[in-house]
Amino acid sequence: MRPRSRSPAHVIAQTKDSLRRLLSGRLPQGVVPTLQRKTATEGRLLQLELGKGWALASAGLAFYLALRAVEPRPKLFTNVMETLPTVLLKPGEADRIVAGHPWIYHGSVLRLTHPATDGELVQVKDHRQRFLGTGFYNSKSKIHVRMLSPERVEVTEAFFQQRIGEALAIRKRHLPNATSFRVVNAEGDFLSGLIVDKYEDVLVLQTSSLGMDQRKPLILAALQAIFSPRAIVERNELSSRKFEGLPDANGLLSGKLDGPVQINLNGLQFEVDVLGGHKTGLYLDQQVNYRLVAGLAKGAQVLDCFSFVGGFGLHVVHAGADHVHMLDQSAEAVATATRNATLNGLTERCSFETVNVFDWLKLNTAANPHEKVVPRWDLIVLDPPSFTRNRASVPDALRGYKEIHLRALKLLKVGGTLATFCCSHHVDAGLFQDTLLSAAYDARRILRRIAIYSQGPDHPVIPMIPETEYLKGFAYEIIR
Ligand code: SAH
Repeated sequence: MRPRSRSPAHVIAQTKDSLRRLLSGRLPQGVVPTLQRKTATEGRLLQLELGKGWALASAGLAFYLALRAVEPRPKLFTNVMETLPTVLLKPGEADRIVAGHPWIYHGSVLRLTHPATDGELVQVKDHRQRFLGTGFYNSKSKIHVRMLSPERVEVTEAFFQQRIGEALAIRKRHLPNATSFRVVNAEGDFLSGLIVDKYEDVLVLQTSSLGMDQRKPLILAALQAIFSPRAIVERNELSSRKFEGLPDANGLLSGKLDGPVQINLNGLQFEVDVLGGHKTGLYLDQQVNYRLVAGLAKGAQVLDCFSFVGGFGLHVVHAGADHVHMLDQSAEAVATATRNATLNGLTERCSFETVNVFDWLKLNTAANPHEKVVPRWDLIVLDPPSFTRNRASVPDALRGYKEIHLRALKLLKVGGTLATFCCSHHVDAGLFQDTLLSAAYDARRILRRIAIYSQGPDHPVIPMIPETEYLKGFAYEIIR
């Protein structure tokens, strides 16, 4: 027999709930009611028991230090949680949630234990009553619950401060020199329905779910505490808000704003109209790709199609391109691109045209029978808007993608480079590449792929949530 002095100290877990947490490897301090037999010292092995005194098999041994360490966020736990309305899932519907996907569709819900108000925090359990997490409820939306956490959380200003702080830390790690970026990207940061963009000292907020929209005051307070911004603007004219029963809203929420914000992106200045520009003002998801594509541009004649306010165009001339010609159908975007060129002292090597890219490419690749198009460009950038709204529009979108690629390939010199992007979630990288290979075949061009692009790290991809991945791109050299 082992000498008694070597046997572990005992912790008595008195409730079923503490037993459950214990079995899942977590035992916060509050549910460790008694240390029996002897006083445990840190690092010492403990034997864990349920109230009646039976030992918990092999799961019942733990180190005292580890037990203490699983209580990092005491403020966010709350006892009233047990009284939250409970959404019970149908058998088989829990796996996706356990794996990290935050959406619970109407059809996955078995029943509610008692009625919940739209926008309210609910707890979610599987059909066997196993706790899966907490989220916002909305009966008006096809997405009945948007999960917020696999834990019992209390949604307070402190909650938002912590979660936004965690998202910010990811940006600081992966975009250490950026001063403008997306701080929170909804599902990508496990905050479904919330987007926050930072344009230097101005923040832009989008709330696309009822639960998040109702908590705007808490979110604003958290943002004030973290960033002390000059202004916070709301850009809530999103079609997705209609599905949540929310009206459009647009305007200043706090602070002062006099005209556009001037921001720094990779050492270049851009004017951003946070109250009226596309998305929340700029395509921040391309920040890293601007740099990467610019690296291909030295001495090049560049054509930037769908140039918007000059993101790619200005980066390529800044990096040493001979000249860039930018095409966009929006006169407003072209005017801003022109101002941005001036702001950076790059106007001499830039030209602009307000035109439909499809028309321009058609005109410039038109040739009489038996004549060949004379290729003029060393680098062509294609960064169109999404041509799809849903799965049904994919075939039309592919025809559009094929057409612009076919014509762009005809205009590229041998040895030249095509940098091309697709921001449609419904067209994945494989389908996108197939489409442009089909265009290459028709143009009788052979391509060498030299780069693969994705959305920037401030738009995190969570593979378990396929909806978080949308931007993909490639660079190809024309072999012949
Ligand atoms: N490359 C840009 C983003 C492009 S967004 C950047 O990195 O900032 C898509 C742009 O395409 C918008 O500015 C829109 O005005 C423009 N656009 C959409 N359809 C067009 C068309 N058929 N012809 C020309 N421009 C178009």
